[in-house]
Amino acid sequence: MLDIRGAPCERAGVRSALLGGQSRDGLLAYGHASGADEAALFDSIREHQALGYRAIRVQTAVPGLGSVYGVASAPAAGGDRYDYEPARRAAVPTEEAWDTRAYLRHLPRVFEAVRAEFGPELPLLHDAHHRLTPVQAASLGKALEPYDLFWLEDCTPAENQEAFRLIRQHTTTPLATGEVFNTVWDYQTLIREQLIDYVRSAVTHTGGITPMRRLLDFAAQYQIKSGMHGPTDISPVGMAAALHLGLATHNFGIQEYMRHSPVTLEVFRTSYTFQDGYLHPGENHGLGVELDLAAARAHPYEPAYLPVNRQLDGTVHDW
Ligand SMILES: [Mg+2]
Repeated sequence: MLDIRGAPCERAGVRSALLGGQSRDGLLAYGHASGADEAALFDSIREHQALGYRAIRVQTAVPGLGSVYGVASAPAAGGDRYDYEPARRAAVPTEEAWDTRAYLRHLPRVFEAVRAEFGPELPLLHDAHHRLTPVQAASLGKALEPYDLFWLEDCTPAENQEAFRLIRQHTTTPLATGEVFNTVWDYQTLIREQLIDYVRSAVTHTGGITPMRRLLDFAAQYQIKSGMHGPTDISPVGMAAALHLGLATHNFGIQEYMRHSPVTLEVFRTSYTFQDGYLHPGENHGLGVELDLAAARAHPYEPAYLPVNRQLDGTVHDW
């Protein structure tokens, strides 16, 4: 077995080798920075850069609104700022408030400030989390063009594939969607008409490595790349599958990577590593993840819910 530069390597039983071998040395990963105000957001970006991230998703609070999707609460004094996790452990879901017009006014100002502080090179991403209409999404894409986003994610509900025609006609901001999709059929219009730039499906939600590979091969015909879903609710097994597939996939784009909690990593013993902005699947056979059932039994299930999102007049809105 040879590596990508022709040198011998011992990778015959590693999953990415079974998928045809590696296409690159490692996988560019992005992390989640956020802040309730500009100073907190800048601190969060710097913390992620210090952890090694070379691409960063930027989420911000909106003046006048309270808790908003994607914005981590402040870390406990002296504690690690653990990655944002939207599900709350409680008997019933919590509620968040939402005002689309306030968000659309505020977000371009935030990206202007981030670019002024961190310069033009750092790849920046943003997730609108399915909350906009097609014309609002088109407007936001245009407004963000000066700040050169790596992508604008889920700007409208993904299930309405035709909506992306309108958005695409109005903005050159790259678009990513698909974390709610389960099959290649969900992408037929989006990929064939080249309405998006990145597919966001997860291996675990798409039927496994083989269906995900077929989806990425379909996307490759249209110069569309991968951006596989990687929040902490994708288990380390799902993350390892994405890493091996991404390493072997020529049209890999970027990998979302939120760090799992120490407790999760007690249960799932992983061999993948993150270093200098890149993920490496590791050299253990198979996916390289071992499940410790005794450790799992020590941590019983706790109910947790995603929040309910309401407009200011109380109407339930896309979360
Ligand atoms: Mg998302």
